[in-house]
Amino acid sequence: MSCIFCKIAAKEMKSNVVYESGDVIAFDDIAPQAPVHVVIIPKEHALNMTALNGNVQGEIFKAISQVSKLKKVQDSGFRVIINNGKDAGQAVEHLHFHLLGGRRLAWPPG
Ligand code: 5GP
Ligand code: ZN
Repeated sequence: MSCIFCKIAAKEMKSNVVYESGDVIAFDDIAPQAPVHVVIIPKEHALNMTALNGNVQGEIFKAISQVSKLKKVQDSGFRVIINNGKDAGQAVEHLHFHLLGGRRLAWPPG
């Protein structure tokens, strides 16, 4: 298995896990772009949005809500970003949702 996010999901690679449910895991980004920067992934490998198993979607939405609460940005506000594919700058080829918060975030993104 060469995918780093699969390794993190399998706990073969260290990360700071902030939330976990049956099919989803969330951990602090290694290079945070904001005071709160969490990466939320389906544990099962999926390249991108189009490849996502439909059953996991609800669990991901629940994870977003729980992580925003745990990281205390639910009221102050937060942003969820999916870099899907080359033009969006997806670097890790395992679908992931960035949850960013803890500061004012510029809009629109570049
Ligand atoms: P992308 O650019 O693919 O949307 O985002 C990948 C994200 O994963 C980046 O924000 C990057 O900092 C993060 N990342 C890459 N490798 C690791 C790692 O080994 N551990 C953690 N915690 N985050 C990682
Ligand atoms: Zn993977």
